[in-house]
Amino acid sequence: MTAEIIDGKAFAAGLRARIATLVPAFEAAAGRVPGLAVVLVGEDPASAVYVRSKGKQTREAGMASFEHRLPADTTQAELLALVDQLNADASVDGILVQLPLPKHIDEQAVLLRISPEKDVDGFHPVNAGRLATGLEGFVPCTPLGCLMLLQDKLGSLSGLDAVVIGRSNIVGKPMAALLTKASATVTVAHSRTRNLPHYLKHADIVVAAVGIPHFVKGEWLKPGATVIDVGINRTENGLVGDVDFESAASVVGAITPVPGGVGPMTIACLLRNTLVAAHRNAGVALEA
Ligand code: NDP
Repeated sequence: MTAEIIDGKAFAAGLRARIATLVPAFEAAAGRVPGLAVVLVGEDPASAVYVRSKGKQTREAGMASFEHRLPADTTQAELLALVDQLNADASVDGILVQLPLPKHIDEQAVLLRISPEKDVDGFHPVNAGRLATGLEGFVPCTPLGCLMLLQDKLGSLSGLDAVVIGRSNIVGKPMAALLTKASATVTVAHSRTRNLPHYLKHADIVVAAVGIPHFVKGEWLKPGATVIDVGINRTENGLVGDVDFESAASVVGAITPVPGGVGPMTIACLLRNTLVAAHRNAGVALEA
């Protein structure tokens, strides 16, 4: 193995620590701490784990965590009523509805109901539009975390060739928008892409968000490339990414591990977005 392992866990811990140092100044100015409301509907075990970690890390950063656990048979109207209540609650700066929602609830309707000013997940079309047009808004946490790791490793991304594998609204599309904004030359690949290895062979940066274990092979990658593996796949051998780590690590320059790469960055960026939301909502300037 020759690649540098990008330590997302350590980077995320540093980011959380920096966020925690900024909370007291906000509290002094606003007379309250930033608040994040997390809503979980049903008993999906992976979602329950995420919600627990989000609550714990929010409290550790000195912010208020409001957790709402609703039964799986909650109606859409009940969920929308809770979102309305959180939108109107001045102690709540950020609202996150944990996905996926049970099948009988229209996910888009719920995401649309969250006030864009409290949409710290960055999934509301208003925030997606702000990102696409270069306006200030909230950027989805996972691609934001990937961008931070890339900029930390590479400095300027200007002119670099990047391939994003995946075009979902929560990872692939915003990732491509962020890389474009950072002046990389971006190719977005998806399930209909012909000859993916052809594109990867020229890529200085690869972000894999596919959802297929060990999908990207080392032999497809450009020597020295920087690879960000977003995939979280549960297999009988534990959590694995979308990149075949063993073969990739002997070719590329740097790669994120799974676990311990992108995963911890997602929650750290959620806390960052919540801190930013709190400052905007309270009309307090953020000094960092
Ligand atoms: P989606 O299922 O929404 O999107 C997967 C994307 O991969 C689609 O755009 C799909 O293409 C594309 N794809 C599927 N098969 C292929 C193929 N053979 N070749 C090229 N592209 C393909 O997934 P998400 O974006 O939500 O998540 C992706 C991965 O990231 C998952 O493993 C998920 O668990 C993980 N994840 C991790 C997070 C973290 O915090 N680290 C947060 C969010 C997700 P098409 O559009 O054509 O169907």
